[in-house]
Amino acid sequence: MNEDQTTTIEIEDMITVGTLAERLSIPVTRLIGELMKNGVMATVNERIDFDTAEIIVEELGLGVSLSKKVAEEQLAPTHTKPTASANAKARPPVVAVMGHVDHGKTSLLDAIRGADVAKGEAGGITQHISAYQIEHNKRTITFLDTPGHEAFAAIREHGALLTDIVIVVVAADDGIKPQTIEAIRFARKAGVKIIIAANKMDKEGADLNHVKQQLSEQDLLIEEWGGDTILIPVSAKTKAGIPELLDMILLVTDVEELKADTDGPAKGLIIEAHVELGRGPVAHALVETGTIKTGDFIVAGGSYAKIRNLEDTNGKPIKAATPSMPVVITGFKTLPEFGDDFTVVANEKEARSQSTIIASQKQASGGHLDIGSSELIRLINRNNEMQELNIIIKADVQGSLTSVIDSLKALDTDEVSVRIVGSGVGAIGENDLLLAHTSNAIVYGFNVDLSASSRQQASRDKVSVRIYKVIYELIDDVKAELTTLLRPEIVETELGRLVVKGIFKTTKSEIICGGEVTKGKLTAPALARIVRDKETLAEVEVTGLKRGPAETKEVFEGEMCGMSLSTPKKIDLVEGDRIELFSRQTVSRSL
Ligand code: GDP
Repeated sequence: MNEDQTTTIEIEDMITVGTLAERLSIPVTRLIGELMKNGVMATVNERIDFDTAEIIVEELGLGVSLSKKVAEEQLAPTHTKPTASANAKARPPVVAVMGHVDHGKTSLLDAIRGADVAKGEAGGITQHISAYQIEHNKRTITFLDTPGHEAFAAIREHGALLTDIVIVVVAADDGIKPQTIEAIRFARKAGVKIIIAANKMDKEGADLNHVKQQLSEQDLLIEEWGGDTILIPVSAKTKAGIPELLDMILLVTDVEELKADTDGPAKGLIIEAHVELGRGPVAHALVETGTIKTGDFIVAGGSYAKIRNLEDTNGKPIKAATPSMPVVITGFKTLPEFGDDFTVVANEKEARSQSTIIASQKQASGGHLDIGSSELIRLINRNNEMQELNIIIKADVQGSLTSVIDSLKALDTDEVSVRIVGSGVGAIGENDLLLAHTSNAIVYGFNVDLSASSRQQASRDKVSVRIYKVIYELIDDVKAELTTLLRPEIVETELGRLVVKGIFKTTKSEIICGGEVTKGKLTAPALARIVRDKETLAEVEVTGLKRGPAETKEVFEGEMCGMSLSTPKKIDLVEGDRIELFSRQTVSRSL
């Protein structure tokens, strides 16, 4: 490659180290070396995000620059949390730890686990996304061992979806940082419970009040200030506060009543996969439902296995595993990927055919099967019949931001509400648009600019950005959007009534009868109900009216007439039954 000339290579938002090396036409070891120099420990199959790739490629000095590939239509979302049946049993909570780099995620996980793993790892950065279980007060808690810097993006995409509770770690001496906010946003979007762990309380500069203040700016008001955000001060170093944190996790678990079925074939997610010398592909998986056993046939992503060995994450062989248990599986033919769903199937034939189908779908979609944004949205609204309008607001100054947010909150009704998935002071930037894209939100700007590159990004990602200079115009726009979410009202108007005096024909699709109009005016065609005493027997359609032998369109109160009806089922009409004619209209509503 000519190093003086700049060529541009298009890559996806996330790319495996191996693929990137291939695209750059360099040995993968050179790329891994460069990543290591930058503190990123990634194996050939691990995925790095675009920003990391861009920095590394620049450092390599290959005369190559990267550009993001325009996202193609993603495949339908693949992962949904299983719903539990009436026989479901209580299961341990699955907890992830997220937060800004260096705020103590790894140290906290180690303190909880009671083992000093961080020191044993190269460069002190966790290498694999895996999980472990601990016992506290004789109960089990599953922790996803979230990784350091390099996989924050991956956890951001999938981690929150795996979990029931996210612990957001905030170093009390440093306060809330961009990745803290990001972690909070993603946990909120996935609809999981948040516990804030204010870490490094042993340090001199620790300022808990400042953290509380900053949290309130993120709409997280702590319990002692009248909100419902749980905050536990801890120190991963001295282990102070750790028992309280674990108590709180169990309390939240009890409130949430987490359950899963243990019967039936297991399903779950791959949380880590790598190749080990002498063992071949090794996958770590989290069971979500059912029971997984040695010898089971399992399909994950485009790969399958007859489970050779099943181990817990300490490497101890086990025969079976139930929901919320992390397990290590060997026997896969090829390496599954982080975020792949797994399912236990009946036999090898089924395993092979299902994995082939998934592999070809993956190939068609250009690689990884990501959890689509619609899946996130579905999760957000999973317990919620309420229609929500997701929006992001950026304003020029804090004062106007606060008043826009206050006015928007006032628009909420029992049926529709504004959900502010992000807000801030300043221009609309890349992160806002990214968040809007994943959360399907509209971006509103008040007195702010949109740079040409952001405009381009917005149009590429089909994100709607609306900028206003007058508050009430912005509010009116949001109001109009909310109105479109309101279910239309159905209005029925009674037209007239007939009391049946004679029955001439009743089949399963047609009724012909005669009677007297006791109220209003009958018309045809019209909708009608057949009513006996107070009970409605069927909703039917009036297809014709006769006054004497002649067809007519209208009959009035006090007149006798014949009537033909189209019915959905056979009705044994009797004298004295009422036929009530009505019209039905849908009326759009306003707030
Ligand atoms: P991560 O990047 O969020 O995983 O953070 P680490 O766990 O690697 O911690 C970053 C640094 O903060 C390390 O040097 C830790 O020793 C230090 N650290 C973590 N927790 C505490 C704590 O509670 N007290 C003190 N004094 N230092 C801590």
